[in-house]
Amino acid sequence: MSSATIARTTNDRATGAYEVIVVGGGPAGLQAALTLGRMHRSVLLLDSGSYRNDPTRAMHNFLTHDGRAPADLRALARAELTAYDTVEVRDGEATRVGQVSGDDAGFEVLIDGEAISTRLLLLATGVRDTLPDTPGLAGLFGTVAAHCPFCHGHEYAGLPVAVLGSHAHVGRLAAMLTPIASEVIVLTDGADLDEAGAAEVAGVGASVRSQGVSGFCPSSLGATVSFGSGPDLEVGGVLVSTTFEQSAPFAGQLGLTLLGSGCVEVDAMGRTSLPGVFAAGDAAHTAATPMPMSSVLMAAAAGQMAAAACVADLLG
Ligand SMILES: Cc1cc2nc3c(=O)[nH]c(=O)nc-3n(C[C@H](O)[C@H](O)[C@H](O)COP(=O)(O)OP(=O)(O)OC[C@H]3O[C@@H](n4cnc5c(N)ncnc54)[C@H](O)[C@@H]3O)c2cc1C
Repeated sequence: MSSATIARTTNDRATGAYEVIVVGGGPAGLQAALTLGRMHRSVLLLDSGSYRNDPTRAMHNFLTHDGRAPADLRALARAELTAYDTVEVRDGEATRVGQVSGDDAGFEVLIDGEAISTRLLLLATGVRDTLPDTPGLAGLFGTVAAHCPFCHGHEYAGLPVAVLGSHAHVGRLAAMLTPIASEVIVLTDGADLDEAGAAEVAGVGASVRSQGVSGFCPSSLGATVSFGSGPDLEVGGVLVSTTFEQSAPFAGQLGLTLLGSGCVEVDAMGRTSLPGVFAAGDAAHTAATPMPMSSVLMAAAAGQMAAAACVADLLG
């Protein structure tokens, strides 16, 4: 702890409430807590200990942290928070949030049967992924298999890479990988690519295997792909799109406006449709983008922005 004694603000002493409860201890929530702590705002950060990048051992594409283990980044961030006396961190799962009736009465967060009051609420609860149920794929996800070429693409440099799927973005994924991989093979798993996708795949020189995929096994190169018919395929990496949903039920509990992606709609400052509630990280984005730009750095940046907006709101 720092030697400086930092008093809670007048508002906090008057109400007994935190000024901000941040739900989520991933990069969005940790950065938000840091920003609020540096502004001497009373903050409680709640963390249920389940993070989107749990499947991976190394995160990439974050300057000064390229290749660092996600758990190490979080440990560093938590250590930094201990320098700020108005920040408390509590491990546990919040189960319910609600608005307290009355003007500017704030919110309550229920955790371990205890209702904790706060003037503002910052949701940084992230999303959870669902993979196609192809046998063997889940065990490779986060190492040999990835969903994002910005995060895990360079790691397949010079190796053959499979792109699994027949959705609208398969051609774009193949195009992103061709400068990196020795060859790109699109696995449609028995489906047909649409005309535009087929043209894009052909245009970048990727090949297509359209047989049903029966499974993935780890191999010395990366993975062996087996098919219902035809020879196995050895690849160094697999790119696969996931579907995702909110990790926490709070957007529904609060009636927040959602976007087509299933994420919480926020403005450029991280404000949701409900005054006093902010959201940041993978769980939220503005209507200007079709989905969140899911990355550790972007989540942290959004956390900082939402925290700055909280400070502005606390000033009145
Ligand atoms: C396999 C994989 C690899 C990735 N690799 C990279 C990479 O290399 N580089 C990169 O930049 N990005 C990578 N990403 C993306 C990155 O992980 C996310 O963009 C980032 O973690 C989002 O941060 P977040 O803070 O929004 O959510 P998260 O990191 O998912 O954190 C959510 C937090 O909310 C908490 N929470 C949820 N519900 C509750 C509740 N009810 N009560 C209390 N706490 C709750 C969780 O415990 C957690 O602390 C990867 C993603 C995946 C799936």
